[in-house]
Formats: sequence, structure tokens, C-alpha cells
Amino acid sequence: MDEFNAYLNTTEIESSAKGILSGIRVSVKDNISTKDIETTCASKILKGYIPPYDAHAVVLLKNAGAAIAGKTNMDEFGMGSTTENSAFGPSLNPRDKTRVTGGSSGGSAAAVAGGLVSMALGSDTGGSIRCPAAYCGIVGLKPSYGRVSRFGLIAYANSFEQIGPLAANVTDTAKLFSVIAGHDKKDSTSVSKPYDFSTLKSDIKGKVIGIPKEYFGEGVDADVAAQVRKGIAKLEELGAKTKEISLPSMKYALSAYYVTCTCEASSNLDRFDGVRYGPEPEMNLPWHDAYTKVREAGFGNEVRRRILLGTFALSAGYFGKYYVKAQHAKQLIAKDFAHALTDCDFLAGPTMPNVAPKIGELTSDPLQMYLTDILTVPVNIAGIPAISLPCGSAHGLPVGLQLMGRMYGEEALLNAALAFEEAQ
Ligand code: GLN
Repeated sequence: MDEFNAYLNTTEIESSAKGILSGIRVSVKDNISTKDIETTCASKILKGYIPPYDAHAVVLLKNAGAAIAGKTNMDEFGMGSTTENSAFGPSLNPRDKTRVTGGSSGGSAAAVAGGLVSMALGSDTGGSIRCPAAYCGIVGLKPSYGRVSRFGLIAYANSFEQIGPLAANVTDTAKLFSVIAGHDKKDSTSVSKPYDFSTLKSDIKGKVIGIPKEYFGEGVDADVAAQVRKGIAKLEELGAKTKEISLPSMKYALSAYYVTCTCEASSNLDRFDGVRYGPEPEMNLPWHDAYTKVREAGFGNEVRRRILLGTFALSAGYFGKYYVKAQHAKQLIAKDFAHALTDCDFLAGPTMPNVAPKIGELTSDPLQMYLTDILTVPVNIAGIPAISLPCGSAHGLPVGLQLMGRMYGEEALLNAALAFEEAQ
């Protein structure tokens, strides 16, 4: 175990290819398939699983010359906001080892913030790249839906998630994004929009930034809000124009997200049945008992909770009341964001409503943990890109400024992020 429990295994794979990442070690979140390297999603049910192929993003890393530094810790199957739901114990925040890293890509953020690697691949379903980036004081980008192939990403809630980069600065984030972005015929939701790293330049002057009042509403720590306001003032000094806006449907975001993601999870995790994946069931037992035994032993409490919730919400008689209603709410939220982003180039607010909690502080109350996702999940519902940038500290701990951009607008978003970073 490394100092931060960032890694689940450190099997290094060198690449013989020459490219933009030659000589750079990149860690890979453990829900991203790596050929011949154990991939567990931080779950007991996948202990010992060795994928026979690489995820598309990993193929691209290797083609760009990167060395794979190992697989990083996470919340089991990506379900959580602190990395405490890992079957292998929480990662520790390099800024304060008594605190969580955030999640679910907590190992990725700890590896970067702790100086173990300069770049890491994470995945973001409802904030899992931006949350740990904010808590650990680094940069994390959630790409537009479809801009990065999900082939080989072990699905949790596939209508929301994207693989994306975490790094110590905007330039490295953009460099890693340029390697993984683009079309892949193996993922029918991927789009043909590569990102050209040479377009990265500091640019914020004259841009209009919407400040949604909901991002400074109830539940947002006053010191975090004040620190983010200072960051926004810095953007104004750099020549951006800001205006107060409202996203009225945001109040439905958490419910719409948690209904949808649990429904998708209950269906996606069906394959871990001991036959297709997972430890071999006891063949002398009736099938239902054998199946139940494998899943009971293999899944942690949070995963079981979500499978139960999702299966309930999808069941006959409840489907219309929960799942269909959540899809309507998602449309309203997406419309709010699209509308706001016609006048505004970007939206800005805090990434997280708090700073990194102490290890164990939220584990007894899952609902409290879900509530901390309030500022990240709307972005996944809207499908748009968003980046978390270090923005000073509150209570002695890192604060993240979240900049959200137009659909497929990563170029402009990264340029604005670079301008902000250079002014720090
Ligand atoms: N915290 C959110 C959840 O538990 C988001 C996780 C993620 O983005 N993978 O679903």
C-alpha cells in the first residue's frame, strides 16, 4: 500500500510508442479495463478479474507513449463521493491524511496531489472527477457526453458517465484530454470531436460568465462560497463579464440523478452473477440461492442499496412514477442549462458545497453524502463539459471553482481555465 492508499495495484506497463505522452506515467482508475492487469472497480466481486482487452482510452494512452503507472482506488463501481465505499479501504487526502480524497476517483486525485504521477484517468458519472479534484486541490475535467469513448469503462450509469483527465495543472489536463478525445466506433454514443492540444491558449477577455444563484444557495458552506466569489472576481479582473442567472429546475437534479443512476446500475450490475463475472457459484444449490450468495458476498452495502433502489424504481407499477418522471425532470434541467448557455459562454460556481470531510464523517448517513453532489450532478444531466480548478482554501483545505461550458466547448473552457490558473 502506498502512503495515500491511492493504488490498488502498481503493475507498470511501458509503451514503446513515441508521442505526446512519451516518458509520462499515467495512472488509470480501476473501473477502466486494462489488458492483463487486474481490474476490480474496488469491489470484492471482481477480485482477480483480468480483462482480455484495453479500454479505448487506454489504447490511446499507450499509442501516445504513456506508461501505465497502475490502477487507482475508487468507490466500489463509482458509487460514492469520498472513496470510502472501496472494498479496499479509503484513499487518504494528501493535503490532510485524516480527510477523504473525495470520490469516486479518489485514488486518481490522491496519486496526482501526492506527487505519485502527473496525470491520471478518472471517470465522472455525477461528479467523480471534479469532486476529488476540488478536495485535493488539483484540476479535473468532465468532458462533454460522447467526446471520449466509454468502450472498456465498466458501466455504472452509462447515460451520464465519461472518462476524463485529472492533473496538477490545466496544461497537463488539456494534454491528456487531447489524447483520449475523439470518435470510437466501438462506442455508439461517441462523437467525432477530437481536441487539438495546440489550440490551448489563455483566453477569458470579453467572455460572459453566468453565476447561477442556486450554486450559492442553501447547504453551501459560507467560507467556500466566499472563496469562490473571490475566484469569480479574479475572472472579472481578467476581463470577463459576469451576470447573475437562475437555473430553476436545478432543485430536481439530485432526485432525477439518483433515481436514474440507481435504475441504470441495477441493470448494468446484473452481469455480476458468478457465471458471466464474479466468483463461481455453488453449483449444487438452486440457481436463485447460488446467485444470491455470490452477490451478497461480493457487493458492499452501498452497491446493494443502489441495486435495491433501482430495481424497485423500475418495477411494474412504479416505473412511471419514478423512472419516467426522472427522465422528464432531466429534460427540464438540460433545457435550463442550454438556455443559460446561449447568452453566457460559461457558468461558474463552487464544485463542492464543502471542503473534504474527515474520514468517517458521512459514512453513517448516505443521504448526507448524496447531498454533497448537488453542484456536480446537474452537469452530467445536461451532458456539458465542466472543469474544477484550485481556488484557494477555506478552513485550511482546498476549494474548487467549477467552470461549466457549452456542449463540446472544451476548447473555450480549457482556454478560460488556463487564464484563471495563470492569474493565481
Ligand atoms: N457521487 C455520485 C454517485 O455516487 C457520483 C459518482 C460518480 O461520478 N461516479 O453516484
